[in-house]
Amino acid sequence: METIHHFVDGAAMPCESGRSHPVFNPATGEQTAQVGLAGVDEVDAAVASSAAAFEEWRHTSLAARTKLMHGFRNLVEANAAEIAARLTAEHGKVPSDALGEVARGLENIEFACGLGDLLKGSYNSQASGGIDVYTVRQPLGVVAGITPFNFPAMVPLWMIPNAVACGNTFVLKPSERDPSAPLLVAELFFEAGFPPGVLNVVNGDKVAVDRLLTHPEVAAVSFVGSTPIARYVYETGTSAGKRVQALAGAKNHMVVLPDADLDLAADAAVSAAYGSAGERCMAVSVVVAVGDAGDPLVDAIRVRMDKLRIGPGDDPDSEMGPLITREHRDRVAGYVGIGADEGATVVMDGREAVFDSDGFFLGVSLLDNVTPDMTVYRDEIFGPVLCVVRSDTYHEAVDLIEQNPWGNGAAIFTRDGGAARQFQLDADAGMVGINVPIPVPVGCHSFGGWKNSLFGDTHMYGPEGIHFFTKAKAITTRWPDPADSAVDLGFPRNR
Ligand code: NAD
Repeated sequence: METIHHFVDGAAMPCESGRSHPVFNPATGEQTAQVGLAGVDEVDAAVASSAAAFEEWRHTSLAARTKLMHGFRNLVEANAAEIAARLTAEHGKVPSDALGEVARGLENIEFACGLGDLLKGSYNSQASGGIDVYTVRQPLGVVAGITPFNFPAMVPLWMIPNAVACGNTFVLKPSERDPSAPLLVAELFFEAGFPPGVLNVVNGDKVAVDRLLTHPEVAAVSFVGSTPIARYVYETGTSAGKRVQALAGAKNHMVVLPDADLDLAADAAVSAAYGSAGERCMAVSVVVAVGDAGDPLVDAIRVRMDKLRIGPGDDPDSEMGPLITREHRDRVAGYVGIGADEGATVVMDGREAVFDSDGFFLGVSLLDNVTPDMTVYRDEIFGPVLCVVRSDTYHEAVDLIEQNPWGNGAAIFTRDGGAARQFQLDADAGMVGINVPIPVPVGCHSFGGWKNSLFGDTHMYGPEGIHFFTKAKAITTRWPDPADSAVDLGFPRNR
């Protein structure tokens, strides 16, 4: 069986800890590889390599960095199909989702290609007589990224391009459940010509994460994952004096007003709730049907669910693949029963779907008449289970979002411009969609939620990513009085 290694100093580094984690093909249920889980020594080796590389990398010219970044961008684009194939093989997502993931990752490399512009700083001439003041942004040093299983290529690309563009060196600890796609991304990074050590990858679990969180040479940690681990990473990393941004779980609401185009809303609900088997932090988990929208909307969603084709990602007919592991599939399936026991109406029960495979498949479920006290409303299910909450008014819908402990994304479907504008102001979430169910910002904006969806104050990628990966230095300069100059400057101009 293949063993997946670390990638340190531009080459594969075998795992010495003696510990490993199985990697599955979720569509067949078979173990396809094992990944080594780093011990403290291996993490230390990766950090040492990145620390050594930092000294030269931080002084590499912006022109040289930009050129390398363009080369990396081109290699990722040229190898998109191979990256996507690895995503399908270990995560299970269908090719359209996998290629979409690569495309969203590419956006972030393209943003970082503008590093000359992004790192310009700011300048005040004549802040006082003969005094100029300017601010430059400098790299932090070695920074670490810890990423989740659900976007194994894209989330590392939310971090790496901006971090290295700013002059940092990077240690990535990807999810142990699907490590092959991020390793390929790291190989392409080196093929593009970046020096060894600028990016290292250590595979691992809590042992590796804990070492990164307390390692004295790691200056900052960028994390994406579930809420309990994000809280832990934030608290541990900041206690060790590090800068930390920790993006966390979600329960995203999609409000549908009675005047909405219900076909558009139903299409959006189905693709946003069940795409990638619901394993997206921006998935719609709750549809809030306002007033008369409820019955026709539930009917329209139900009709579309019947047509959804679920199967292995390597079957071109599949629109939704399996879940990541057998345990996660069973946990998600359990929520359908919990919802029924607590009084929700089971419109469609995904547990009844039959699959001719040992893969981790589950059919799609729709629970209607869900109320905020139910477990299915309170927990992040992270699977293909959509809840519908009925609400009498727009205000009730907005209150629900406000009272929910998470605040990643929120969307509204309406034809009314005034209602849409009001929702932009009212929605208590970091990312808002107007007739867009998954409002993931493009690479030149930043991604992040509010409340329990983000620990820290800086969103990921885009301008806030540049801010996170740099520290500001303000420089104040005093110049001699021009009248004292040995050259006749023709005064009193510009004194
Ligand atoms: P997870 O929290 O289990 O794992 C994330 C990372 O933390 C992995 O690298 C993992 O190895 C590590 N980890 C796991 N347990 C740990 C522990 N006890 N101590 C230290 N490190 C640990 O998350 P996941 O299951 O891989 O991903 C799904 C979760 O991520 C969902 O909750 C989803 O909402 C969230 N997510 C959020 C965003 C966002 O931008 N807000 C994006 C993607 C995923």
